[in-house]
Order: sequence, then structure tokens, then C-alpha cells
Amino acid sequence: MKKVLVLAETRDGNIRNVSFEALSAAQAIAAGGEITAAVFGPGAGAHAAALAHYGAAKVVVVENEALAQYTPDSYTQAFSQVIGTVEPDAIVVGHTSIGRDLAPRIAARLGYGLVSDVTSIEGDDVFVRPIYAGKAFQKRSFADNKVFITVRPNNIALVAPDASKTAETVALDVELKDLRTIVKEVVRKTSGKVDLSEAKVIISGGRGVKSKDGFKPLEELADVLGAAVGASRGACDADYCDYSLQIGQTGKVVTPDLYIACGISGAIQHLAGMSNSKVIVAINKDPEAPIFQVADYGIVGDLFEVVPLLTAEFKKA
Ligand code: FAD
Repeated sequence: MKKVLVLAETRDGNIRNVSFEALSAAQAIAAGGEITAAVFGPGAGAHAAALAHYGAAKVVVVENEALAQYTPDSYTQAFSQVIGTVEPDAIVVGHTSIGRDLAPRIAARLGYGLVSDVTSIEGDDVFVRPIYAGKAFQKRSFADNKVFITVRPNNIALVAPDASKTAETVALDVELKDLRTIVKEVVRKTSGKVDLSEAKVIISGGRGVKSKDGFKPLEELADVLGAAVGASRGACDADYCDYSLQIGQTGKVVTPDLYIACGISGAIQHLAGMSNSKVIVAINKDPEAPIFQVADYGIVGDLFEVVPLLTAEFKKA
């Protein structure tokens, strides 16, 4: 039985889905031990009930104005103080931009072993993570069980929420000293309708879309499917879309239920970001394109003909 602490991330006033997945991972690791969730920012206490439904027995709420937006120094100080209070054996956060930044800082400071980008857990202490751009899997465990893990979104199966569960809520005052960064404004470059890293369906465009306007048919299909729009680096480099959409080795790593690649050749660096998607559909006019080797369904054709046909059919459904 272990004590496990989870950082619950919020976005647009809601707990991110990956944080519920982190709580599900915590249940496996805790093996019957106590799970605590920490949630930061003004109004954070409102999330305690939802966190309890996913297994948090205790929720540490830090309603400090300086934690309304993530900054490395404010979150490092605040989360370190929460860890000092809870003294967990294991810490779990999402493998998001926040988790990727925060986990190594805190693991190094407080002497926790770090396993990042975990996609599954065997038993309660073997953490599985992809390596070599997803070509192999590594299993890690720590003899002293003091471990900090980040979990890749859309990989850890969610436990069924139990609305009858409640948590003890603890309000914690943290001391934040000499903050070097203050966020004045957040400007989102993406449409923000669906978060790319947590999306269940992604419509992704490559250099084959040929222009900024070429993304419009993909956006229309995404609207019909409630999907997020992604891109290859080829499309980003050509300035057809913003780099925040880039998927791959040097972009976002995604694991949606459905990934539709339109006009993407399937370079190894792109596959590194999407090859673990559950179902891959490729639309490419070149039947020899390498993307067809990883695709579950392939459509050889012009994306500007195929994508509007798909949109029209899905609209009927
Ligand atoms: P292309 O390779 O040019 O492919 C375009 C495809 O569109 C072709 O297959 C063509 O047949 C098809 N096509 C053209 N017109 C149509 C049409 N009308 N209908 C249907 N199909 C059409 N790439 C990433 O994506 N993500 C990364 O994170 C990434 N990181 C990298 C890191 C490093 C260190 C390096 C060296 C490279 C990286 N790359 C990355 C770049 C990668 O190597 C490829 O250059 C890039 O993925 C190619 O993008 P693309 O498939 O859109 O373009």
C-alpha cells in the first residue's frame, strides 16, 4: 500500500481528462493506499468533488492568485510544499507541457526517481514507456518506490467514476518567494475547440494540403466529428498552419481513437507522434506513401475530393 499524490491540472475552468487518467494510474500504484489530489488556483476547491469521484481520498486545495496560470517557479514552489505536507511514495501528473516541465524539476530537487511518458503500468510498480520514437517499450521500476511519473494522455484506462465517493478537503497556504515570472495574458493560437493532446479524433494535414486555405476542408470534417486538427511539420514549415498543431518527434505526441492523415507522407519523425493511435486512416494520392504501412485503412486519392465526401457522409449520420 502506497501513498500517491496527483497534480490535477485545470484548463478553461475544468479538470483536464489526463488528470482523471492520472488518478486512475494512482489507483493501480497505491494498491489500496491513500490517494491525494492537489489542485491550484482561485476557485480550485470547486473541483474537489470530481476528484473524489475518481478516487482521491484527500484533496489539497491551494487557492493562490499567483497559481492561476502555470509558471515554472510558482508551481515548483507550491507543489514542493504540497509534497512536503503529504510525503507521498509516488507522484503522478499528466505528460502535458506542464507535467513535462514540472516533473523533472521536482524529481531532481526532492530525490524522486522519474519515469516520463508512461503508457501503462504492470502491477503496482512497473512503468512502461515508449522509447526510440515508439519502436520499443522500456519497463522501469524503482527499488525504494519513491517515484514521480508522467502519464501520456489517452493511454491509461479511466476508472469508472463513483459519485458516492467524497474526499477530505484541505486548504493549504503556500509561501511563494521571489517569483521571476508573472503571466499577464494567455494568447491561444489554436481554435481551442478540442485540445489536440487529449482529442479522441484528430484530422491531420500535411504538405499535401498545399496552402492555409487547404486546411479548410479538414476543419469542416473536424467540426462534424468533434475532432481536433493537427499537422505534420511539413505543413507547419510551409506556413500552412501554426506550429502548435505539429505532431511528431519534435511536436505533440497523440494517441487518439481515430487519426485521419491527409496528404502526409509518413516520415519516421511524424510516425513518432501518432503511430500508437488506435485506428489510423491515411488519405494520400501516392499509393507508395509510407503512411500506408502504419494505416489500418488507406484511401488512395486526392484529399480535396475525399475529405469533402467524408464530411458529407458523416453529416448524414
Ligand atoms: P511530404 O513528405 O512532402 O508529404 C506530402 C504528402 O502529401 C506526399 O505523400 C504526397 O503524395 C501527398 N499529397 C500531395 N498532394 C496530395 C493531395 N492532393 N491529396 C492527397 N495526398 C497528397 N515531421 C513531423 O511531421 N513531425 C515532427 O515532429 C518532425 N520532427 C522532425 C525532427 C527532425 C530532427 C527532422 C530531421 C525532421 C522532422 N520532421 C518532422 C520532418 C519529417 O522528416 C518530414 O519532412 C515531414 O513529416 C514531412 O511532412 P509531410 O508528410 O507533410 O510532407
